[in-house]
Amino acid sequence: MKRLLFVFLDGVGIGPGGPQNPLDSAAHTALRRLAGGRRWTAPFPTNTAPRHHIGTLDATLAVDGLPQSGTGQGTMLTGHNCAALVGRHFGPYPHSSTHDVLDQAGLFQRVQALDLDSPAFANAFPPQYFDPDRRHWESVTTRCVRAAGLSLRDLPTLLAEEALAADLTGQTWRDQLNLPVPLRREGEAARVLADVTRAHGLTFFEYFLTDKVGHKRIDTAPAALLSALDQFFDALLNTLNPSQEALLVTSDHGNLEDTSHTQHTRHPVPLLVYGWAAPYFAGATSLTDVTPGIVEALRAENGRRPTPSP
Ligand SMILES: [Zn+2]
Repeated sequence: MKRLLFVFLDGVGIGPGGPQNPLDSAAHTALRRLAGGRRWTAPFPTNTAPRHHIGTLDATLAVDGLPQSGTGQGTMLTGHNCAALVGRHFGPYPHSSTHDVLDQAGLFQRVQALDLDSPAFANAFPPQYFDPDRRHWESVTTRCVRAAGLSLRDLPTLLAEEALAADLTGQTWRDQLNLPVPLRREGEAARVLADVTRAHGLTFFEYFLTDKVGHKRIDTAPAALLSALDQFFDALLNTLNPSQEALLVTSDHGNLEDTSHTQHTRHPVPLLVYGWAAPYFAGATSLTDVTPGIVEALRAENGRRPTPSP
């Protein structure tokens, strides 16, 4: 069975090079390998080879203003233009007028309908998240996961090496939540994620630190964060078998690529597909194309009949 790993990076656009853009660096060898040898800077031409698609996606969704995570992620995970549904960009949490589409047309449900090995959301959530006395906002992803009836991974799953902390290493769990998790190097996190990938038709992992650093909400230098992310992708690319396990990387909106301010941008976002699924994204131009491309790739390569789109 062919499997797909979707790594979502929050807040990473493709913008002009220059000192304001930490992605304009020769240091990130794995990021460049993912992009066919290029830096993640504009101009960023589209190219589709049998095992590697490189391109960008429009994240403005033909709506004025700065793209936001609620509508951007909703679009990415449903194929429906959630910014158009709301009439503006909205975030970081899902807008009420997108709840129906998130609940009925989410990527996880559409993959479930293909009758492959179950989809997985590989992020682990700390015990505090499951405390019924602590109310918290639901993200686009957790809403789509819940609508699909999938369980959220937790501390025991993390310790069993079947899930990843959102920061990859577990440092945040130790420092901010005082939880006794082992520190993992980025390469070890990649190995865990590859193992999860091999047990599921679709595996989804989301990484928020790129957006947080872009907003300067955490005290991490962009170059240090990208170096850690580069080590993660280096191990992932060296571990995955591209004929069987495809890696898709994209984002919901720009941010980190312009450190001259702390807001989102209207830049396009990268769409990088390494492995067997690449040809299914040859025509992708917008965040609306991510979910349909994944569903069609998994359906076509695993011999399932077309399913009607919700
Ligand atoms: Zn943001």
